[in-house]
Amino acid sequence: MTARSLSELFFDPAALAAEIESRGGRPFHARILREQVLGAGIMDYDSMTSLPGRVRDSLRVDFPILSCRELDSSVAQDQTTKLLLGFPSPEDQGRHDTVETVHIPSLRAKGEAGATLCVSTQVGCPVACPFCASGRAGLSRNLAAHEILDQFLAGRAIGKISRSVIMGIGEPLLNFKAVDQALRLVHEELGLGARKITLSTVGFPDRLRAVAPQEPPFQLAISLHTPFDTERDVLVPAMKGTPIEEILEAGDFWFETTGREITYEYVLLGGTNDSREHASTLGRRLHGRRCNVNLIPFNPVSDSDYNRPRGEEVEEFRASLEEAGVVATVRWSRGLESDAACGQLRLRAAQR
Ligand code: SF4
Repeated sequence: MTARSLSELFFDPAALAAEIESRGGRPFHARILREQVLGAGIMDYDSMTSLPGRVRDSLRVDFPILSCRELDSSVAQDQTTKLLLGFPSPEDQGRHDTVETVHIPSLRAKGEAGATLCVSTQVGCPVACPFCASGRAGLSRNLAAHEILDQFLAGRAIGKISRSVIMGIGEPLLNFKAVDQALRLVHEELGLGARKITLSTVGFPDRLRAVAPQEPPFQLAISLHTPFDTERDVLVPAMKGTPIEEILEAGDFWFETTGREITYEYVLLGGTNDSREHASTLGRRLHGRRCNVNLIPFNPVSDSDYNRPRGEEVEEFRASLEEAGVVATVRWSRGLESDAACGQLRLRAAQR
């Protein structure tokens, strides 16, 4: 298939060199182009003055750097920027498949320059968690590796990226080949270290056991959301029938194989999974395991049956885990006033 954007060819160096030659350049110009975009973050051909003018002129006409278009965006008071990116649909070039990418500037208090970029891996999501707007319409398709890379390049154009969470729309382990290809490139050529990238999954045990020995270029987070099997069947429908213990054992295997501690993500749904019994059972199940827990108070989604827990309930839950010897932190979502819940911007566009 003919490539329609430069980013697509970053995964095929021979094809990139051929493309540049067909536009009057030399093979080494392909390497320069690569360094300019991936290394230096230059996102317009006119600024690439080390390329011959005829090559720049030709590329500018019909070969965009990214395959996506920015269809919508919202910026919160704290400068958290959510982008709605549209990728050409493979079935209908006039249509766009949309995903969300979020650029979250670091808080100065943490003393870290740059931002965290939250990246999507699929158009829609097959996991269908009932509290998540992204899972409502199911899966449309997987993103290709260059479409995942495009999100990093679009995010970096807003501001420096110091961390990334693969935690946007989609389940990364169900599109792992493309995710892995993209993250390896990001790691090697955009310079984001493996400890600065966190991939979040609902935790398919077989897939975790298969990926762990491959020196994955990321840290792992597993979305648990409850310590009870029957409730997890409801909250994470695609994992129905998989016992939580199997997931935890796969998590232990991950730590033993990679040497990197797991984070268990827990979306706190007020009145659903935030009781004392939930906290004490979770504490018992995780006690003695090399892991930590990230508590995420639910972000209200329009038409949702679920509630955001109150601050004191969240703190009680966290303290109960600490009492059980489990390190737990609370992550209040940033940019709450501007469609902060995952999938909201996409939902709004679909409703329009
Ligand atoms: S919470 Fe994550 S896994 Fe669940 S439906 Fe939403 S995007 Fe998919």
